[in-house]
Amino acid sequence: MPESLVDLEQQRQAILQRLLELPDFRSGSITATYGTCGKSSCHCHQLNQPQHGPNFRLTRKLRGKTVTETFASPAELQKARREVAARRRGGRLGGSQDR
Ligand SMILES: [Zn+2]
Repeated sequence: MPESLVDLEQQRQAILQRLLELPDFRSGSITATYGTCGKSSCHCHQLNQPQHGPNFRLTRKLRGKTVTETFASPAELQKARREVAARRRGGRLGGSQDR
């Protein structure tokens, strides 16, 4: 039995919907970076002193380009971590918690 036009149209809508959701999909990895600050008197500029950090950021591929996101708050970092972990488990984003 051939699919009706309405069925095909609904499938197309569903696919489009998923494509639209993709940019928000965390598929990258979170890395920690260390660095120095702008104050030359700060300990971070001394040899053998710890630098500031870790600063976490998310790098991922978006339409063939690598983009980097930083986190404004620990809560954002936690959220991104959950989403990356969920993605690694098989692509589920873990429902509608916070946001
Ligand atoms: Zn410093």
